[in-house]
Amino acid sequence: MSIINIQGINYDEKSSYQKGPRKAPKLIRELLHCGSMNLFTENVVSINDDRVVDNGDFEISTYFDIEKITLNHLNENNKVFTLGGDHSITFPIIKAHSNIYPKLDILHIDAHADLYDNYEGDKYSHACPFARIMENDMASRLVQVGIRTLNTHQAEQAKKFNVEIHQMRKLDLSKIKKFENPLYISLDMDAFDPAFAPGVSHHEPGGLTSRQVIDLIQNIEANVIGADIVEYNPDRDFQNMTGFLAAKMMKEILGKMME
Ligand code: MN
Ligand code: MN
Repeated sequence: MSIINIQGINYDEKSSYQKGPRKAPKLIRELLHCGSMNLFTENVVSINDDRVVDNGDFEISTYFDIEKITLNHLNENNKVFTLGGDHSITFPIIKAHSNIYPKLDILHIDAHADLYDNYEGDKYSHACPFARIMENDMASRLVQVGIRTLNTHQAEQAKKFNVEIHQMRKLDLSKIKKFENPLYISLDMDAFDPAFAPGVSHHEPGGLTSRQVIDLIQNIEANVIGADIVEYNPDRDFQNMTGFLAAKMMKEILGKMME
């Protein structure tokens, strides 16, 4: 039986603006199990299933330990679902996956392209993971949705790496071409409009609705082999509303991975 291993990565050392996402994994789990919601997806699939195994949270002392932790939970049969943490964690996680998936598509949902060659002198900043992934040929396709913060440097990087960007401006989700390879989903909570998800370090108005992101996930037809939810910052939240949204997205993504 194939397993989905949940791992929490308590890490926000690569956050450029505000710390806080290291506190997210524990809180998202607490909200998921606090009795406010049931454990079924909208598709009526329960994530309270023997195939979903929670391995708890990990304190990170060295950045590339994230790759080692992921490799402990990942093999040809077992998938990994990660609660972050800031977005820097996605590079070592994808590095782990690249050992098993020579062809991997990535759906990256975010306000930001995170394609900086380096940010404030750090090549592993949370503003850089997708530049590292692309220059190491770890993704066959990188599809970004929700982007609304491009600058000239990142637009050049996107062109260089052939990134398929679906900006918020003139967004049409029906234009996303079908994924053919195994698919990894990386969800940065600031992809949502701050009205839906205020608990993020970088408020960027003009974002996705909760419904748009849920529909995007539910309409995926590819084999989703891994995912992360990152950048939830509990210090910035109101009434845990972003935490509850992260918990709901966790259910919907896990349900998709169980298909
Ligand atoms: Mn990001
Ligand atoms: Mn972002």
